[in-house]
Amino acid sequence: TDPAVIRNFCIIAHIDHGKSTLADRMLQSTGVVQPRDMKAQYLDRMDIERERGITIKSQAVRMPWSLNGTDFALNMIDTPGHVDFTYEVSRSLAACEGAILLVDAAQGIEAQTLANLYLAMENDLAIIPVLNKIDLPSADPDRYAAEIAGLIGCEPEDILRVSGKTGVGVEELLDRVVEAIPAPTGNPDAPARAMIFDSVYDTYRGVVTYVRVVDGKLSPREKIRMMSTGATHELLEIGVSSPEPKPSKGLSVGEVGYLITGVKDVRQSKVGDTVTGAGNPAQEQIGGYEDPKPMVFSGLYPIDGSDYPVLRDALDKLKLNDAALVYEPETSVALGFGFRVGFLGLLHLEIIRERLEREFNLDLISTAPNVVYEVTKEDKTVVTVTNPSEFPEGKINEVAEPMASATIIVPSEFIGSVMELCQGKRGQMKGMDYLSEERVEIRYWIPLAEIVFDFFDLLKSRTKGYASLDWKADGEQTSDLVKVDILLQGETVDAFSSITHKDNAYAYGVMMTGKLKELIPRQQYEVPIQAAIGSRIIARENIRAIRKDVLSKCYGGDISRKRKLLEKQKEGKKRMKMVGRVEVPQEAFIAALSSD
Ligand code: GDP
Ligand code: MG
Repeated sequence: TDPAVIRNFCIIAHIDHGKSTLADRMLQSTGVVQPRDMKAQYLDRMDIERERGITIKSQAVRMPWSLNGTDFALNMIDTPGHVDFTYEVSRSLAACEGAILLVDAAQGIEAQTLANLYLAMENDLAIIPVLNKIDLPSADPDRYAAEIAGLIGCEPEDILRVSGKTGVGVEELLDRVVEAIPAPTGNPDAPARAMIFDSVYDTYRGVVTYVRVVDGKLSPREKIRMMSTGATHELLEIGVSSPEPKPSKGLSVGEVGYLITGVKDVRQSKVGDTVTGAGNPAQEQIGGYEDPKPMVFSGLYPIDGSDYPVLRDALDKLKLNDAALVYEPETSVALGFGFRVGFLGLLHLEIIRERLEREFNLDLISTAPNVVYEVTKEDKTVVTVTNPSEFPEGKINEVAEPMASATIIVPSEFIGSVMELCQGKRGQMKGMDYLSEERVEIRYWIPLAEIVFDFFDLLKSRTKGYASLDWKADGEQTSDLVKVDILLQGETVDAFSSITHKDNAYAYGVMMTGKLKELIPRQQYEVPIQAAIGSRIIARENIRAIRKDVLSKCYGGDISRKRKLLEKQKEGKKRMKMVGRVEVPQEAFIAALSSD
């Protein structure tokens, strides 16, 4: 295809602002999906995505569109909508020359959309601003047009008004894509270079890799090379999705499509990497490649210990489709055999856990998630801590924690409560801008550990649900951080150790000892539950002794009943965990970890 008739674009939108619905309508308007084949959210293939209404994996679709007698090929590249997948969003944007900025005309722009808009502007993408859902009675397009015009520096009249639901304005939008977005440019005679913007594992076909060709041409059956690793593969198939995969004779400058090499693991075909021809390789990679970096770690354990091999196989399978998922085996006194797993963020954690439970039929318990700390010991050696139990004993020089830049958009009446919340979470204010008279953008530099857990829920509840949040990892700072251990009769219960700021250590200790006191049954002797920082005890509870004799209920007589009771008691013991001398039912640990 001649690059002059290609247009590559993506849709930037907040969750629920109507991206999938609009994409569906475009597929219909361009005729690539027949009305009888249309099912809602055609492109959202995965069940979890469909149920949660979020898009995890991006995809590209090629659509024909004619304007003034010329036939164009529009490539729509779907971007993931959630903050945990920022790097994937950035690669999707890098594959495009333009972006549709889609904003719900009853809601206005939200923080994540704003962050992605800035990312698109930094990448010099042409921006097409669009107000969606204008059919809604509550839509207020004039008000939000002014806001968007102020942000991107256009006239409010230039902003298109559409409804993905009724189809109003969608054809004008497709015309605008052709007119406003530049055609791709690149050197057709240079050695081939294509950027990977997505990589998906398919049970039948192996890894399907989505690429945008920058220079040269990729042809079927040639040998290709991944520039980050130098690994070579044979191209078994190359083609475009429209939206079903269609093999083609190759992909040339500006084209977007998929390739299949028979590799079985997305780690061999990584988002951001450059594909070149092995015969005549390019010298320089396309910029912007990064390895995915897990930000949040948590221990995952099967509730039934005999499920451990199933969990291991399940993680091995999910890893094929998720280059950001890392894990290694871990054992815990309280929870048995499991894995320490690294995630991009909390949503990523939830998605993986849900898939493990749903697709592999596992019952899991996870330990409280933590971020990654760099601990410098007195002898200057540095330890990277992904698990509180690895926190070094003895004298410590300093502890560095990861930080985040957070952007919050709220109605101005909530500025006070947002600032109070951020300050309480050790944030430093970096700036504030009014988007309009009623809405502000507030920026904070804040510890990642404070933001990745309950922050968003607290923010929502303090702002009646109006606030939106975006964050990205941004450097680190040294802080007064300590490890709090929870001890049962002097023995540390590993799953409950936590790294917290000094000022929060006492509250954590009181909360955890109190909870365990309620959950652990009384024993034959008194059991102290303590919270400690090193050897210093900061909180304590006692479980009082009880003399439990199951046989005393039977008044001597019935032997078979006695035997039954004894057997029952033995069975109960199987699910008991020994912490030192103390017997604890595993349910107690699970309950302590799962509530709140
Ligand atoms: P996404 O999360 O951005 O992909 O949003 P969806 O396309 O899933 O839409 C979110 C919700 O908004 C769904 O309930 C849609 O039916 C609804 N919706 C999407 N577009 C429109 C529209 O133009 N008008 C109205 N009234 N509702 C819409
Ligand atoms: Mg969607």
